[in-house]
Amino acid sequence: MYIIGEEEINAVREVIRSGQLFRYGDPSDGHQNNVVHFEKEWAEYNNVKYCVCVTSGSAALICAMAALGIGPGDEVIIPGYTYIATALTVLNVGAIPVIADVDESCTLNPESARKLISERTKAIISVHMMGMPCNLDAISAIAKEHKLHLIEDACQANGGFYKGQHLGTFGALGAFSFNYYKIISAGESGAVITNDERLFERAFMQHDGGCQLWAQVQDMKEDAYAGNNFRNNEINASILRVQLKRLPGIISRLNHAKQRFHEGLIKSDKIWLAPCNDLAGDCGVQTTLTTASASITKRFLSEIQEHIETFSPIDTGRHVYSNWQPLMNKKGAHHPLMDPFLMPANQGAQMDYTPQMLPQTLDILSRSLMLKNDVHWSDADIDQKIDVVNTVIRTL
Ligand SMILES: *Cc1c(COP(=O)(O)O)cnc(C)c1O
Repeated sequence: MYIIGEEEINAVREVIRSGQLFRYGDPSDGHQNNVVHFEKEWAEYNNVKYCVCVTSGSAALICAMAALGIGPGDEVIIPGYTYIATALTVLNVGAIPVIADVDESCTLNPESARKLISERTKAIISVHMMGMPCNLDAISAIAKEHKLHLIEDACQANGGFYKGQHLGTFGALGAFSFNYYKIISAGESGAVITNDERLFERAFMQHDGGCQLWAQVQDMKEDAYAGNNFRNNEINASILRVQLKRLPGIISRLNHAKQRFHEGLIKSDKIWLAPCNDLAGDCGVQTTLTTASASITKRFLSEIQEHIETFSPIDTGRHVYSNWQPLMNKKGAHHPLMDPFLMPANQGAQMDYTPQMLPQTLDILSRSLMLKNDVHWSDADIDQKIDVVNTVIRTL
């Protein structure tokens, strides 16, 4: 979250005054239908037909996979650099996450994904990490060629683009998170979007297993199956509606900072700008650099840290596959019979995880640096930061 203020306070105040906090309700009783309005607004903003507002990005990913019927016996390819939730949600639906390498863009390496495709593979989840678009041309082509579903995990990339089209709209479904750490936020929340009516209905049922018993939800063509409760509420949705209004401004400021860094950083054979799959569509959350060695990364970090918030992705714990204990220890669920790793349907699937299994990913992440951008920076601030970074680069 970058900006929150009086507008959100006013929106929440109105919801509380209305006394109507539940997602379903009758406008004639003063219900504001904020969840429904946000769903329409988020779909419109992303230029798609359908949206379900849920409680988290994880819930959005579960709804996406459930909508596609992914479950035991299936493999889902994910990158080795993403928040652990991408892997856990695959397990939550009973399938096996297969971890692929990232490339120097710190997003899924399409060729690594291709090599992992087996007869069990059902889907690829492309993750737009730290607001950076994946190589969607290559990933979409691979998915198409092998008849796999593409799901986009755009949890860290609210409002980003690839070649002028919104992230989250290239695959069958796109998942977003609005937890505290994301570009816009209500503390916790998420959304799943699609253009397919059937997938929308199934995602909706997954998000509210009892939805068909509410008067407001009728005419579903799909047969009801046992879903969860990932319903969001009127308070969160009222905040998200204000946050959405702020989103284009936030993205344009952050992207502007990133582009200025790309223009202003000096060339060096020790440290350089990481390849970016679409600089114009990037959310600009940070500027990614690649170094020639992990020791240069460490030196750069120690020099720069007092001037600008910088980190190496290798140090981000829960985002690096080698730290995903439930996978490394093969603990896939709370109950053995519901544990995908133990399910008969999954025996023979690719699940021999070890912390060292992707040396290329570990190497790239240890040679990568991320310089956080600040939405409040003026051009003068950005140029001053660029000068500081250039000074440090010269000393390496
Ligand atoms: C945050 C995040 C999620 C999960 O979102 P929650 O809202 O925390 O459940 C999934 N994938 C990625 C890449 C994320 O950053």
